Amino acid sequence: MHKILIVEDEENLNKILQDYLLHYGFEPVSAYTGSEGLHIWRQENLDMILLDLNLPDMDGLDLLREVRKKDQLPVIMISARIDEVERLIGLELGADDYIPKPFSPREVVARVKAVLRRLNRPATRTDRLYLGQLQIDPRGHTASVAGKTLDLTPSEFHLLGQLISEPDRAFTRVELLESTQGSRFEGYERTIDIHIKNIRQKLRALDPDTVYIRTVFGVGYRAGFAKK
Ligand code: CA
Repeated sequence: MHKILIVEDEENLNKILQDYLLHYGFEPVSAYTGSEGLHIWRQENLDMILLDLNLPDMDGLDLLREVRKKDQLPVIMISARIDEVERLIGLELGADDYIPKPFSPREVVARVKAVLRRLNRPATRTDRLYLGQLQIDPRGHTASVAGKTLDLTPSEFHLLGQLISEPDRAFTRVELLESTQGSRFEGYERTIDIHIKNIRQKLRALDPDTVYIRTVFGVGYRAGFAKK
């Protein structure tokens, strides 16, 4: 049974999440403030944290930073607005997923399952993937370009891996979203654009003269190797 900490100060929301998680076979633990959340995180052996961004006593991001100093426990951030979510993704703080409010509890449960499945899933492809000077090792979960380590977040790693696994195929944003998150979320296709932008920036920093990801107008993205 997966033990999941809910850090959410809105009591009714906290209760609804508890009920849903229980119903779907999880073991919820609730905190209503950031300090309470940190206390429970130190005491308990958790499998995941559902973390509200706006807490009465601290910023959810500070709690996330505190957790990240110690371990790689999966964290799903819950935030009041989509633009806030976009900013969070840009910050690359290492949250595993982001959910904007208002959310449906059913969707939250789907996201929780998707993140757990993604983290527990054994690597299906054992061979390295190559595109030009870019190299991805799905088993070792490492990527490099021109011999230099490419530092990617888990979502970016999955996204780039998927594009490169089928270099001739144009993927729609929805397909890419489903592969990284396991479920579709209304209005979330834009997050793919943000991830792609971040990946391109990182690639450019190490290999400025090469294009690795092409935008396919009206569709989405595909891998493509070209010298500038
Ligand atoms: Ca709140």
